[in-house]
Amino acid sequence: MEKQILNTFIGNISHCVWWKDKNSVLLGCNENLAEFLGFRAPEQLIGKTDFDIWEAKEAEESLKIDKQVLSSGKPILNYVERKTKKNGEIAWFSKSKAPLYDEDNILIGTVGWHNDITHLKNLELSIDDKNIKLVEYNLQLEEANKKIESNNEDLERFTYAASHDLKGPIRNVKSFAQLLKGKNSLGQDSIEYLEIIISSASRMEVLVNNVLTFARAGISEVEAEPANIRAIIFEKIEDIRDLAERKSAEIEVNLTSKPIKCYPHLIGLVFYNLINNGIKFNESTKPKIEINLIEESDFYVFEVSDNGIGIKPESVEQVFEPFKRLVGSTIPGSGIGLSICKRVVEIHRGKIWIEKNKESGSIFKFTISKYL
Ligand code: ADP
Repeated sequence: MEKQILNTFIGNISHCVWWKDKNSVLLGCNENLAEFLGFRAPEQLIGKTDFDIWEAKEAEESLKIDKQVLSSGKPILNYVERKTKKNGEIAWFSKSKAPLYDEDNILIGTVGWHNDITHLKNLELSIDDKNIKLVEYNLQLEEANKKIESNNEDLERFTYAASHDLKGPIRNVKSFAQLLKGKNSLGQDSIEYLEIIISSASRMEVLVNNVLTFARAGISEVEAEPANIRAIIFEKIEDIRDLAERKSAEIEVNLTSKPIKCYPHLIGLVFYNLINNGIKFNESTKPKIEINLIEESDFYVFEVSDNGIGIKPESVEQVFEPFKRLVGSTIPGSGIGLSICKRVVEIHRGKIWIEKNKESGSIFKFTISKYL
């Protein structure tokens, strides 16, 4: 009865099972092992040793474990073994070996069983491989980030120095043009030209001051503070008054004076650029700019919409890159306005993007975090 149970068990278990004599010569095995090793029947394996089946080095390893079991009289359970089959295939096993005794309790050899875990091991190895790659990518990313940070700092210092140096010559142009305008001998044309020079120099002064503020913001962090953004927008509209009047632009500001935490100087730059662009890139006889605010739970969403020439969907991301302009030189500009806006919005832990306005033009939307 016991023998039948044992036979049923060995014949049906999913493991490969074998038993060897004290010299590690196979005495028998189940169907699974025979099939696994490419033999038609278990009997074909009787009399063989590990050296007939595995690579010599691996067969020696196997023999070593047999000897350990035989000399200690104790089983060695669930160890993982890597084997190379004669055909070169690699296989992984979870293996166990135990001492084999006869009816008189005399040690006659070993009994062993293994489970093929090649598919699991391959999965583990490929995960390890991917993890190593991931660690490598992370290191490369960290390096690249360090480089970008250092480049950004250099750029900020350069911007700061360059804008600072520009202030003197602009002031000179403005002062001498004003002196010249005071001379009695000038004709009407010359006076008009000088007025344009003075107003352009004033605008340039504003721009340079803005860039300076921006560059300074990067170099030394300023504190965010509650500010009346509606009032800031009106200050900026005042800076653009000449252009707005010349183009008969209408600007609607739908915002209360409620204080909102932000970096006031920087947020002013965003509105200056967006309103200015909305009027500048506008061929309508009645340019219209509308500014709205929507309050969400974690951030504020500002909208600056215009009825201007619009931006093609394929360019709505590019325009935020420095010096990227979509128009020729007919409309003045440097191509850095929107990249400054993006930077400022990022400092406010927000995002900026463009949507198409209903009939014509664009809607610039940006968020600022409520937790600055
Ligand atoms: P600049 O205004 O100095 O050219 P910006 O960075 O502010 O630089 O804008 C980049 C480009 O994006 C502009 O040259 C223009 O082609 C496009 N653009 C920006 N704002 C608008 C707008 N409101 N409507 C249409 N095109 C715009």
